[in-house]
Amino acid sequence: MSKKEVRSGGILFIVSAPSGAGKTTLCRKAVDYFPDLRHSISYTTRSPREGEKNGVDYHFVSELIFQKMLDNSEFLEWARVHGNKYGTSVKDTQAILEKGLDIILDIDVQGAAQVKKKGMSAVFIFIFPPSLETTKERIRNRGKDSNEVILDRLETAKKEIKQAKKYDYFIINDNLDYAFERLKSIIIAERSKKERMLKKVKKLFDVIC
Ligand code: ADP
Ligand code: 5GP
Repeated sequence: MSKKEVRSGGILFIVSAPSGAGKTTLCRKAVDYFPDLRHSISYTTRSPREGEKNGVDYHFVSELIFQKMLDNSEFLEWARVHGNKYGTSVKDTQAILEKGLDIILDIDVQGAAQVKKKGMSAVFIFIFPPSLETTKERIRNRGKDSNEVILDRLETAKKEIKQAKKYDYFIINDNLDYAFERLKSIIIAERSKKERMLKKVKKLFDVIC
């Protein structure tokens, strides 16, 4: 997809983090807090975890459907993570941005790199766990993954952290309240940038050219 294909009224926020760092928790809090921020619901070939709902947490689809979507260029980005495929719908993202709403994409480092490569205007946020040991504990306490899956996710976490320097903002999710304050601050700061405020301000004060 070219840069022109996703026309943005709203802001595209990309959030990546190693598994268990708390990005789902933080993104949910952000969407609950900001009425004009939407969460992108990805398509995945992964099976639902206990309590996950189709169309809410993910669109859970078969390999065949995912492949068809891929063949039809329906993904803004996609990646294979921990043996499953995940992708973001161009159509869904575009529909939200065109309404002037902001969107938050909780995607892995490979997907974020694809968005960056396309030259799209986006804000890249990386969330760190306080330590790898904490990550392990959090995934274990979440109680939805086997030991083998947890070890695989920890190995991937080390590789993902190496990609963090490509992001615009860092958040260490040690204390959840502090981490959320930072996420809120980033969103508010990005919304306050001169280039994003200019249109609004011009309506109020026509002296600004
Ligand atoms: P991710 O989406 O990055 O895999 P989750 O948001 O699912 O991570 O969080 C993993 C687990 O850690 C969840 O059980 C969540 O409630 C918990 N958690 C998230 N942030 C914190 C925090 N700051 N302190 C303690 N537990 C947390
Ligand atoms: P989980 O299976 O724990 O929900 O997610 C595993 C990983 O896949 C996480 O790093 C998450 O950010 C990533 N992920 C979820 N949806 C997408 C997506 O649409 N695209 C990409 N590239 N990664 C995704």
